[in-house]
Amino acid sequence: MTPSLDQFRRVVLKVGSALLVDRSQGRLKLAWLAALAEDIAELHRRGADVLVVSSGAIALGRTVLRLPPGPLRLEESQAAAAVGQIALARTWSEVLAHHDIVAGQILLTLADTEERRRYLNARATTAKLLEMRAVPVINENDTVATTEIRYGDNDRLAARVATMIGADLLVLFSDIDGLYTAPPAVDPAAEHIPVVERITPAIEAMAGGAASELSRGGMRTKIEAGKMATVSGAHMVIADGRVKNPLKAIAEGARCTWFLTASNPVTARKAWIAGSLEPRGTLHVDAGAARALRAGASLLPVGVRRIEGAFARGDAVLVRDDNGVLGRGLVAYDADEAQKIIGRASREIEAILGYAGRAEMIHRDDLVLSVAAPAEAAGA
Ligand code: GLU
Repeated sequence: MTPSLDQFRRVVLKVGSALLVDRSQGRLKLAWLAALAEDIAELHRRGADVLVVSSGAIALGRTVLRLPPGPLRLEESQAAAAVGQIALARTWSEVLAHHDIVAGQILLTLADTEERRRYLNARATTAKLLEMRAVPVINENDTVATTEIRYGDNDRLAARVATMIGADLLVLFSDIDGLYTAPPAVDPAAEHIPVVERITPAIEAMAGGAASELSRGGMRTKIEAGKMATVSGAHMVIADGRVKNPLKAIAEGARCTWFLTASNPVTARKAWIAGSLEPRGTLHVDAGAARALRAGASLLPVGVRRIEGAFARGDAVLVRDDNGVLGRGLVAYDADEAQKIIGRASREIEAILGYAGRAEMIHRDDLVLSVAAPAEAAGA
């Protein structure tokens, strides 16, 4: 049984250079892109959040700058990206505008997803765009990323984005319709694999090494991306992007490979919060807040009576009331900020802190209760 596209609510689409850019002319394939925009609009109309991770900056820029074919030096590819990214972003914005969808450009470097503070910022901005129903169009910030601080390929970047934003599906459009038991170009007996339940060493061994000249990732980086995505609760699909309306093609049963996740993003995240983070502080909440939390609500500043510990935004903290520990979660404010807003209504946050922070002290997606006491039993 393979999943149906309708079931997903947050989808990251990765589109590689080889699909977007015509190799001989170094121009964008506009008709193909316009058709993909139709597919995106369809998903978006259904209410799904859509994010695009788009390559193509270097491939486009090198034509404009008339750089010779063959591998580029780092500074050359950075210069090419600086030039090409403008056209790339503009074109995405235009093709989506055609469907009344607003695009927002996000350029990320590795540190933006690996360092906690920057990660939280990147996540907050992306989430805000989605909340406003925009489609983030994301690429690596190639102009400033040097070798040591690169994702290097957009398969990996797309998987990081999917993890960061709690996507439930990652679609990698490729120039092949999925994973085969061996690279089909060299082995005519290679068989297509429609579903991968779990990425085992045997599966990894099936992914050869080769990458095409324009895109850096081969099947191996796609499997790496698959590991990241499935661990964090997203399914991943590798599909042939060369056809027109490639998403529609998947929906209509085109051959592709599904990598299935065992969990959903919220449970995966919660398992991580519950299991692997050392609490850096404690929030003492009042009885009303404790009841609300048990009923599944977020923790608002107004329900917090007292805080302890020198925690920072994004740290795990314990939540307790007079009867003991209720659970733990990731706090949305640094301790000094939290101190100023506890006991206050969320609408006052902006006036107190000087900026509009999150309404919740701990969002319910970031909160794990230690005893799942049902609301009725708690007397609510
Ligand atoms: N970020 C690169 C670009 O936009 C592409 C990297 C990749 O294709 O994996 O040109």
